[in-house]
Parts: sequence; structure tokens; C-alpha cells
Amino acid sequence: MKLSILISVLVFLETNIVLAAGFSCQKLFFDQKTDRIVSQKNTSNQESDSFYNNFLIPIKALQKKFFSLKESDKLTQLLNSPKILNLEFPLTLDNGKTEIIKAWRIQYPSVNGPGKGGIRFHESVSTMEVRALALGMRLKNKVIGLPFGGAKGGVKIDPKKYSQNELEKISRLFISTFLNKHPKNIGLLNDVPAPDVGTNPKIMKVMLDEFLYWSLKNKPKSLDFKSVDTQYMEKNTVSVLKVMYKALGKYKNKNAFETPLLDAYIQFTKNHPEHKAILAGFITGKSISDFGLKGREEATGYGVAALAETVARSYKLGTNDIRPLTNLSFAVQGFGNVGSHAALGFYKRGGKVVSLFEFSPRADGKNFLILENKEGINIKKLFKWVVEEKKSIAEFSEPFLTKTAFYNQELALNKLLVKQVDFLVPAALEKQITKKNAHLVNAKIILEAANGPVTAKADKVLNQKNIIMVPDILANSGGVRASYLEWVQNLTQTPAQYATQKFVRKDLEKELAFGFQNVAQIAKRNNISLREASLLFALKQWVKEPVSAR
Ligand code: NAD
Repeated sequence: MKLSILISVLVFLETNIVLAAGFSCQKLFFDQKTDRIVSQKNTSNQESDSFYNNFLIPIKALQKKFFSLKESDKLTQLLNSPKILNLEFPLTLDNGKTEIIKAWRIQYPSVNGPGKGGIRFHESVSTMEVRALALGMRLKNKVIGLPFGGAKGGVKIDPKKYSQNELEKISRLFISTFLNKHPKNIGLLNDVPAPDVGTNPKIMKVMLDEFLYWSLKNKPKSLDFKSVDTQYMEKNTVSVLKVMYKALGKYKNKNAFETPLLDAYIQFTKNHPEHKAILAGFITGKSISDFGLKGREEATGYGVAALAETVARSYKLGTNDIRPLTNLSFAVQGFGNVGSHAALGFYKRGGKVVSLFEFSPRADGKNFLILENKEGINIKKLFKWVVEEKKSIAEFSEPFLTKTAFYNQELALNKLLVKQVDFLVPAALEKQITKKNAHLVNAKIILEAANGPVTAKADKVLNQKNIIMVPDILANSGGVRASYLEWVQNLTQTPAQYATQKFVRKDLEKELAFGFQNVAQIAKRNNISLREASLLFALKQWVKEPVSAR
């Protein structure tokens, strides 16, 4: 089937969703004192948050040097007008009490495609954090040439404090509140979420199920399928809806994280292998069994490792031209989705992870664990232990391994930073390398696997120390590249035609190497850092775009 027909089907489905509720979007601002959204505010207040400043400080400097007055004005307008969607909702806890959950989706829209960005569940989530992450996504998509706007979602909770039942409710309420309040701003062609810190494919699954549930409940039953211009689509869309309507009955007594509508949709595509699972393109980062992409889960970390190879080759760090990471040393912070796959990639490509810092809670409060091995940690074994077998990282052992647990996160981090290594790879959270500890860094290269791990003030110190920094909007872009492939796959392919892992890996290698060469050339030509060059490229592309009316 032609893409144009699929797109018209999507527009048709989306329009029905849009019509289901009225929508208005006014310019809103964040009040830091009260941590609430207000309708009018002087924008200068927004600039005091350091994570947002990671972007704002270098952008302002670039604006003066490289942009005409007209471009600069437009850029200021684009930066100052994200859509800040407040998605606060009440949650009924298992004990019957009600809690108000703070949640946001923030979007920097594009005329070229839907918004794209993860949803984070973390207790430190704030409007400014989500805004910085959304801006990062906008710029990241430009750096690697994706037709997406930037978006990010945040739910201010510590997921560990909630039962499975409550976590499912939070996931569903985030999506249904979003659909109820801002139906124009969510959906396959408007804004496509994905996982981030604290969320995973299981949560994506339940969010997709909620989208199907909401769409069936809110759309008029007499849908006008005449507007879809092929017999094939008409027949299949009607039958898929019939199957799904039947599954609605299963919501009465279901267990946590059961997804009756999605299960019916999956079953339908199994029985009709010629059918495309277009609605699954609502969200990415899904499991393969839920219409996900082979290789999406590892993609961010895989991309970080592939990029390390390109960087090592480019700066002639190693001695082995064919496997440039051979015997190069790595210090890694975080062994979650990104950190574990990145570390595995370094290991498989011949690198040595000599130091690893992970949060590992203990009864005595010594929660910050450093693993060290001069010979390099056997990451293949550690990955199997932690990621596949779900065993505690603190209980892992191997010859020459030392383990040190700290009460104090700062002391543990310092121990990682002082390590004399080729690559330092922060892969946990933002604002880890700050003005306070930047002088300790002993690495030749920092690969920002996490979003915003180096603050703007630390950036200055590290530049003075001649440490090369590969910025987040390039280094961790493998995740959104794979999300793009997943989205396109859902819109255009049948499950039987989905991409292989080999295809995805090759694509990531090629796209990230291309992104790096482009940024490195801009840096050289203008005598600026890789961070400035990637921002310059992204911003120049962004100001050229017509302003989106979304
Ligand atoms: P995750 O929750 O899977 O992993 C984070 C890991 O860091 C966890 O294992 C956690 O225990 C550990 N951690 C938390 N605080 C720590 C601390 N103070 N010191 C050491 N370790 C600590 O999250 P993730 O998906 O791997 O994301 C990590 C970073 O990468 C985030 O900044 C995220 O925004 C960014 N990112 C993720 C993706 C993706 O596809 N998942 C894509 C692009 C960027």
C-alpha cells in the first residue's frame, strides 16, 4: 500500500481523536518559586536553572557570533515558545487514599513531523528539567537529520515507591490526561513518546494499550470508513475494530499490566499477516513482541559505543586501526539501559571498562558503588548477571575486581572522575560534572551518554583542560534514530517485513559516524568545540524551518 494512503488513514484517525475534545493552547510559563505553571511570566526567570542553561549559555554566545539579527530574533522566539502542557492528575493509591501526581509534556514542534522524546518517571522531575530535555530533543533531531520536533514527558514520582498496580495506573493516567486535555498534541502524527529514565518497554506497552482504549471509548461508533480510499484498508480497519471492541469487555477484572486491546491487536496481525500495525506507531521503545524494533532497546548504548570507535579513530587514540578501541580505557557512570549497552559495546569492541559507578541501595545506606578492575571488568559477564539474570551488581565478583561502597554520592563520583582513562562516559543523569568537580576529571574524552551530564560552567573548565567533549545531542542520538526506524516501520511495514537487528545496527553505525564527521568539520572550520558545532548546526537548520502552527 502506498505511503500516501496510509498517511490519509492516519490523518483520518487523528482527526477523529482531535474532534473528540476541544483544545486551546496558550503561552504558559514556569514559576520556579511555586513550581507551578502560570499564564504570564518574565522569561528571564527561566534562565536560572543550570540544566536548561547547558543549552542557553552556549546558544546565546553562538547567536551573537554566527546569526544575523533576523535569524537571532527568530531563534529567540523559537526558544521562548515551547508548548508546556500540564498533565497533573489524581491517583487513587492501593490503600484508597488519593495523591496528586505532577506531570508534564513539553514540546518544541516542527513542521516536518511529530514531536519525539521520552517520558521520564523520576522524583526530581520539574518543568525546567522537562523543558531542557525537550529542547535537547529538538536539537538532537536536527543534528542527525530526523524530521521530528522535540518533546519530553516527565512524571514527578519515585517509581520504586509504588506498587505494580499503582504504576500501571500512573502510566495510563498520564496518557489519558494527555489525550483528554490536549488531543491535538499527541498521536502518531503529532507527538510520539518513548522510554527514558524510570520507564521501559513494559510501560510503553501499557501506554499504547491506553491509547487504543481511549480511542475506542471516545470515537463515535459509526466511523465513516468511506473516506479511506482502498477496499483493503476499509475491510481490515473495520475488522480490526470489531476484534478490539470485543476485547473491551476484558477490562473489568484484569491484573496489573495486562493489555487486552493490544493483545487483540497483536493477535489480529498474526491472523492477518498482510495487515500493518499502524496504531502501534503511537509510541516507540516497545518490545519486539509489541510491534517494536529489533535493536531499539540497545540502540542508545550501541550508538554510544559505535561513536566511541569513530571518535577514537578520528583522534588517533589507539594503535589498532581496524579495532580502534582495543585496550583503550573507560570509566562509566550508570549501568541502566544506556550505560549497560554502551559498556557492553566498549567491551565487545576491545575496550576496557576499568571503573564503573552504579547506584546500588543497601540497608546500611552505602548506596553508591564503584567497581574497579585494572584489567578491565568482564562486561559480558556483568551484563548477563545484572541485565539478564536481574542479580544485584553488588554481589558480582571476578578476579582482580575491587568494590567500594560509599554513603556519599559525591565521594563516589569523585573516585570515578579522577580515574586516568581515555573515555569518561556519564550515562546516568544530568548535572553530574559541575564547576565543583570538573577540575578532577582525568579523561581525554567525555562521551555524554546521558542527557546534560556536564553543566555549562563545568564545560568551561573542561575546555580549558583541553578535554574533548562529545555532546549528548550527538552521543546518545542512537536512541531516537532507532525510534524513528520503529515509527516508520509501524506506519509502512507489516510485522513480517520488520527490520533485522543487523540492519538497525548498520544504520546506527552509519548515521552516527556521518553526524560526527559533519559536526567535527564544522568545529574545525569555525575553531569551536564539538558542543558548539553541534548546536550551531542544529540551530541553523531550525531557524530555516517555517514556524509550526501545531
Ligand atoms: P535508566 O534508568 O535505565 O538507567 C540509569 C542508571 O543510572 C540506573 O541504573 C541508575 O541506578 C543509575 N544511577 C542513578 N543515579 C546514579 C548516580 N548518582 N550514580 C550512578 N548511577 C546512578 O535510564 P537510561 O534510559 O539508561 O537513561 C540514562 C540517561 O541517558 C538519561 O540521562 C537519559 O535521559 C539518557 N538517554 C536515554 C535514552 C534511552 O533510550 N533510554 C536515550 C537518550 C538519552
